[in-house]
Amino acid sequence: MPFRATVLTLYPEMFPGHLQYSLSGKALERGQWLIETVQIRDFAADRHRTVDDTPAGGGAGMVLKPDILASAIDHASPAGDTRPRLLMSPRGRPLTQNRVRELAAGDGCVIVCGRFEGVDQRVIEARGLEEVSIGDYVLSGGEPAALTLLDAVVRILPGVMGNAFSGVHESFEGDLLEHPHYTRPQVFEGKEIPAVLTSGNHAAIEGWRREQAEELTRARRPDLWTAYRRDKT
Ligand code: SAH
Repeated sequence: MPFRATVLTLYPEMFPGHLQYSLSGKALERGQWLIETVQIRDFAADRHRTVDDTPAGGGAGMVLKPDILASAIDHASPAGDTRPRLLMSPRGRPLTQNRVRELAAGDGCVIVCGRFEGVDQRVIEARGLEEVSIGDYVLSGGEPAALTLLDAVVRILPGVMGNAFSGVHESFEGDLLEHPHYTRPQVFEGKEIPAVLTSGNHAAIEGWRREQAEELTRARRPDLWTAYRRDKT
């Protein structure tokens, strides 16, 4: 069964967005993954198809109503659907390559995209939504966050990336950032490609790349560096 993503949104036309292009787009055409959208507004019962209301306790903005969102979730992910239910949310656990790998190993996911101030807390609890953040900044809606998460998942699905070996040395594999890359021309604005990379000595190249990855990680990401050193000892 291909990986199946179901996205609940007020803007279904935003999908598959950029995922229709390049490798993810070709994989979508080949049926290696599927995406379907559910318009949350279709579950609003009133004449104006209202999906939001003012926050209890006062304050700015609007909140997505729990009853409507619950109906949409129950339609998209009925009992027996084993896929995780995610809610894109700046309050969520920050997305990591580890979580991306876990998701890619599963059957798919159901993703709720928030809008306005977010969603009523009770539907998060009642439907067991896992809050996922893509970083410490605030977007105007969950859709670009959902596309980002799906991009990361789809690119590692079996058969999606042309070269089966790309991915092995990438950033976050083994807690390290990736080493720098070079390609021709041999001299660019007076700067040469590091000699070791054109030496043909594969062991030396491996060693150089690891040193560079370690140095970059130490300088830029003390958090990853600490984890790497802990795992190594
Ligand atoms: N008032 C909320 C922000 C709402 S932003 C707060 O301060 O926490 C509107 C919607 O955009 C959210 O419901 C969520 O779905 C999405 N969103 C915003 N920033 C995000 C982030 N960093 N990661 C994932 N989703 C995000």
